[in-house]
Amino acid sequence: MTALLHDAAEAAALLRAGELVAFATETVYGLGADARNDRAVAAIFEAKGRPHFNPLICHFPDAEAAWAEVRADGRARALAAAFWPGPLTLVLPRRADSRVALLAGAGLDTLALRVPAHPQALALLRAAGTPVAAPSANRSGRVSPTSSAHVLEELSGRVAAVLEGGECAVGVESSVLDLSSPGGAALLRPGGVPAEAIAAVVGPVGRPVPPGAGPAPTHRSPGLLLSHYAPTLPLRLEADAAAPDEALLAFGPAPPGAGALFQLSAARDLREAAARLFAGLRALDAAGQRQGLRGIAAMPIPAEGLGEAIRDRLARAAAPR
Ligand code: AMP
Ligand code: MG
Repeated sequence: MTALLHDAAEAAALLRAGELVAFATETVYGLGADARNDRAVAAIFEAKGRPHFNPLICHFPDAEAAWAEVRADGRARALAAAFWPGPLTLVLPRRADSRVALLAGAGLDTLALRVPAHPQALALLRAAGTPVAAPSANRSGRVSPTSSAHVLEELSGRVAAVLEGGECAVGVESSVLDLSSPGGAALLRPGGVPAEAIAAVVGPVGRPVPPGAGPAPTHRSPGLLLSHYAPTLPLRLEADAAAPDEALLAFGPAPPGAGALFQLSAARDLREAAARLFAGLRALDAAGQRQGLRGIAAMPIPAEGLGEAIRDRLARAAAPR
């Protein structure tokens, strides 16, 4: 059952225990999990019924806590000073020692960060003492919730608790700004902080191409970024076994003979497999290159629940590049 809570400390204890908690921000209600707990992050995708993994925004109580996970340059610090807490999300290179789950960043080398401007969200984040990954607290393909009643309609029985935070300002998502390349700042999603206000702090900002206004620009759009988080070795799908010169991404009992092995879930648990997916791809890619293997063979994943998102990710990784 989903509890309706009024106490941020109680909600924080659930987050620390690996449970999902929906909470209010000034934009919309977020579906939060401990960003360092990969199974809890996998549970977000499960609860939303998302057929693919996209990178989630990590929420922090203050900029200092955020900078522990990423490399923040002068631009990031100036923007944080100007707009945090507030509806501005910054995409920055993740630190090598960041403990944020790879799944929260969908395997990317960057993380999206924000300090929300809602007193109760800040109280929750302070009490949680861990970054909180949170997309909007709706089922996949449905509108973002702006009240606890909306969240309960969407997710009752699928999350441990909703922290009552009143009504959110309707229809204002956070602006998402990519600062991950030293060259330029690029707006990936327009939102609560206008591009002009961002430009006033850091100079010219690349803009997303509006829908229907021609081809999307180059390397910066999140859509294109999504096609990048693939291993460098070719990936072979629906494999029963791997040859000695292949690495095997196993799901369930693994046949012998592979040149390298990563077990997603011996017990065929899809949440465990989702939690380990990006670590597995990275580990096998590294092992494969070290050992001169020719590719990665991936065992079949059932097309149900989180399996759909795993299959989507593997299919993208296997697509010709
Ligand atoms: P939502 O969780 O619904 O607020 O959406 C998060 C937005 O941030 C999406 O548009 C994501 O594609 C974008 N995003 C999150 N992390 C990253 C990242 N590391 N790189 C680029 N875009 C990101
Ligand atoms: Mg959403």
